[in-house]
Amino acid sequence: MGDYPALHAPSRPDWACTVCGDEWPCPTRKRQLVELFGGNVRALVGYLRPYLVVANTELGRLSTRQVVERFIGWCARPPRGGWGGRVRKRQV
Ligand SMILES: [Zn+2]
Repeated sequence: MGDYPALHAPSRPDWACTVCGDEWPCPTRKRQLVELFGGNVRALVGYLRPYLVVANTELGRLSTRQVVERFIGWCARPPRGGWGGRVRKRQV
């Protein structure tokens, strides 16, 4: 496990990252979550779903589809080049 000096948490109700200011989940947080769940997409989606539900009520300017895409759409779709090679398959 890595050592995270700052937690990239969402500020609300605007759902921006409190550390880097990107839309949450920001790229850093995504990388951390993927590492945390060892690439287990189902667990990752399960973790993010409650955030999605709250965000969907607070991010009125976004459609439900946009919120779903932003919060869990990326889970099964690693960025180009992968997650930096830090994801290891792990038995839970
Ligand atoms: Zn961040």
